[in-house]
Parts: sequence; structure tokens; C-alpha cells
Amino acid sequence: MSHRTMKDVKNIGLMGGTFDPIHMGHLVTAEEARQQFALDRVVFVPAGYPPHKEKGAVTDPEHRYLMTTLAVMSNPFFTVSRVEIERKEASYTINTVRYFAERLPGRRLFFITGADAILEILTWKDYRELLELCTFIAVTRPGYPLDQVCDTVAPKIPGLLEKVHFLEIPALAISSTYIRERVSRGLTIKYLTPEPVEQYIHKHGLYLPGKKDCSVEKRL
Ligand code: ATP
Ligand code: MG
Repeated sequence: MSHRTMKDVKNIGLMGGTFDPIHMGHLVTAEEARQQFALDRVVFVPAGYPPHKEKGAVTDPEHRYLMTTLAVMSNPFFTVSRVEIERKEASYTINTVRYFAERLPGRRLFFITGADAILEILTWKDYRELLELCTFIAVTRPGYPLDQVCDTVAPKIPGLLEKVHFLEIPALAISSTYIRERVSRGLTIKYLTPEPVEQYIHKHGLYLPGKKDCSVEKRL
């Protein structure tokens, strides 16, 4: 993310995820949020060592970073940040949002998540500060109807509905888990993820059975 290009940017969307691998569900979500909320930029933030997932259970962060970079290349509004993958410790969303809030004062921050992730919000560290620092855009995801989210989460947090906007996107029942399973079974993943990502996965033999954590040389 270059500071020169970030200068005139006012509304910034942050899209956090494991991105193991990134897929069309993530991209459609980010693009719809960008347009609906007039975001000047969407920054994809691949997680380093996700606190809610077992260490070693996810693919090397460098692979995930490179696949995310390949996926967003064709969209001038999209960029990728290394902030979480540079951290050695578990990456909590609050640290990432604080990082962007400090470095980009005067900007309005939006955190884009799927409906399943917003359901986890109560388990997130410092969620109250999170709600002060950014506005959430919670998008529909098959299996997680928005009504259910409103009914379960909203009554528990006063004022939540002012800080969380719900957005319906064209339903895409794609998950990274589904893609990993298909690759391991030798099934095609064409059109589930952008072609450069598909090629990267095959080139590096990611998600093949018996190849749990594929490492890549650090390119720094
Ligand atoms: P996994 O199956 O490994 O959990 P995932 O597909 O859920 O992967 P994540 O990297 O965990 O992908 O998700 C990052 C963010 O994108 C989360 O907020 C998640 O809710 C959202 N998301 C993922 N897939 C979709 C989808 N198909 N539609 C809408 N949102 C999605
Ligand atoms: Mg997930």
C-alpha cells in the first residue's frame, strides 16, 4: 500500500481473512461493499497466525499473501497489506484496525466481514473499541441469514445496529474450505477463484493430500 496513493483516500474498507485461498466470494463481497459504501479503497489483510485457527493448520502466509495479490491485481480499487503477516504473534482484528486508524487519521474505516464472522464479534478481543474505530459491513453468506444475525447479536450490544451495516450480496456458496477439498480430491476449481490464483495453486502443489503446510521462501 503506497502512501502516495492513499493520500486522497477518504473511505477505506478493510477486508480481513485467512484467504487460504482467496476466492470469488471474497472478491464479490469486497466489490459490492466498495460500490454500496462509496469506498475509495479496499485493503485486503491476509491473517498471519489467526487466533481462532490452529497454528500450522493454515498455509504459509507468504503463499496466501501472493495469491491475494494475484487476485486483486485487476481491480484498481483493491490493494493488499502485509501488516498482519509481518507480525510474529497472533493477529487480532483490533490491532489491525488500530494500525490503520493511527496511520490514516481523518479517514473513515469500514471493516468488511461475512455474516458468519460478525456472529463471532462477541468473542473478539476489545470489540467495544473496534466498534468505535470502524463501521462494520456485514454481508450475507449462504447459511447465515441476516435476520438471524440481527436477532442474535444486536440485542446483546446496545448501539450495535448504528455501527454495523448489513449488505446483501449475490449469494456465492464458495468457501476456502470447499476449494481446498476440491483440490485435494483432484476436482477442478476453475471459476471459483481468479485464474492466476488457480494457476498458482497448481504450480506450487498447494492443498494436495499430505501437503498440509507448504512453505515458500520469504521474498523480503
Ligand atoms: P475457510 O473455509 O477456510 O474458513 P472462508 O471461505 O470462510 O475460508 P475466510 O478467509 O475465512 O474465508 O473469510 C474472510 C472473510 O470473507 C470472512 O469475513 C468471511 O465471512 C467472508 N467470506 C468468505 N466467503 C464468503 C462468501 N462466499 N460470501 C460472503 N462472504 C464470504
Ligand atoms: Mg471462514
